[in-house]
Amino acid sequence: MRVKVYDAHFSGGWILAEIPFRRWLRLALLGKAFLRCDAKPGWRGKLPFYIVRCMRHGYFLDYPQGWDGHFYCPLCDREEVPRFSTQTGGTSSAV
Ligand SMILES: [Zn+2]
Repeated sequence: MRVKVYDAHFSGGWILAEIPFRRWLRLALLGKAFLRCDAKPGWRGKLPFYIVRCMRHGYFLDYPQGWDGHFYCPLCDREEVPRFSTQTGGTSSAV
């Protein structure tokens, strides 16, 4: 099954990820499915990458982060930035 996934880690854009039907079903039901183990440049080892569903943006690629292994949607993350940066100046331009 092909899934359109936002990949902020490797390509920096939308990719089509090919996953087996059973995994796709898991993704549809649970909103999360394992894709592959991979390492970003500079990493000493590989980490498991997952396709995760964002209610606002669709699917994105990420690895479990922090002590509880949560995922960050890179597109939500990007939208959060202006909200916090307004506290420092007030003249920041809108993106
Ligand atoms: Zn999002």
